[in-house]
Amino acid sequence: MKIGIIGCGNMGGGMVGQLVAAGMDVSCYDPDADIQARMRTLGASVAETARALATGQGIIILSLPKAQVVEAVMAEIAPYIEADAIVLDTSTSTPTTSQAMAKLGQTNGFDFIDGPVSGGPAAANAGTMTMLLAGNHAAIDRLAPVTQILTAKTVVVGASGAGHAAKIANNMLCAANLVLVAEAVRMCEAAGVKPEGLLEGVNAGSGRSGVSVVNFPKWVLNGAFDSGFTMGLMRKDVGLALELAEQTGVDLNGFAGIADLWLSKSGDIPDTADFNEITKYGAGK
Ligand code: NAD
Repeated sequence: MKIGIIGCGNMGGGMVGQLVAAGMDVSCYDPDADIQARMRTLGASVAETARALATGQGIIILSLPKAQVVEAVMAEIAPYIEADAIVLDTSTSTPTTSQAMAKLGQTNGFDFIDGPVSGGPAAANAGTMTMLLAGNHAAIDRLAPVTQILTAKTVVVGASGAGHAAKIANNMLCAANLVLVAEAVRMCEAAGVKPEGLLEGVNAGSGRSGVSVVNFPKWVLNGAFDSGFTMGLMRKDVGLALELAEQTGVDLNGFAGIADLWLSKSGDIPDTADFNEITKYGAGK
């Protein structure tokens, strides 16, 4: 089966490596020349344009920065996608974009499946991502040989758009927990409790989260801040949560203050910084 990947950065590049290692026939497109060179060294062929890549692929995986880019790329390639091909969008995008792209697929004879991922570049490089799938279930079943290579766990969330809604909710919780665990650590340090002891206690109790179990030991307390996920991408996801809440008419009373912290109060932390650096906001006061 021929597989094309559009967007081969931190996440897409890891997926290319896994698929090539599994013996798949992989082509990629990314406008960045350095990334094109890296993909060639991995053993993938590199197309000159997204349109050239789309022709002849059974499966096209997208790993693009945001929904607007997904829509632009899809508008370019839709007429060139093979009949019965499947587009798997692993970007963190929006439910409305996914639903519109699924309709575009119906018109043009291909399936468009939501497949946003968790786990960061380390999981993309190891084939251990979690993927939230949504859309036509028969097409999701046909993706199994590929999702088995890329993931340690898949969850079929529902109809088109549901995967991206669930991913936005997941990242909203991660963004909130980073702020809250940082505040809990500072509060306890001020009360004379060491972070390591606090986290061991929290992680054995009801306050634990992915942030307290993974982020603090792996990227925060040791000063590494090298997760491969940026402030800019998490700010995008915080914005997507606010946008989805507005579209659905849901008040995010608890999250509003945390969103303000990510989107404006922490302006000194650049978009290029590791997203775990949000834990430094408010330190030293
Ligand atoms: P990245 O910036 O490393 O990669 C994005 C790639 O898309 C870049 O190489 C860029 O050159 C390419 N690109 C931009 N415009 C393009 C276009 N028009 N056509 C083709 N390629 C184009 O970002 P990433 O960290 O790999 O994230 C990709 C997606 O996955 C984002 O939506 C992100 O929110 C999501 N995600 C990232 C992580 C993470 O930890 N990095 C985790 C889960 C989900």
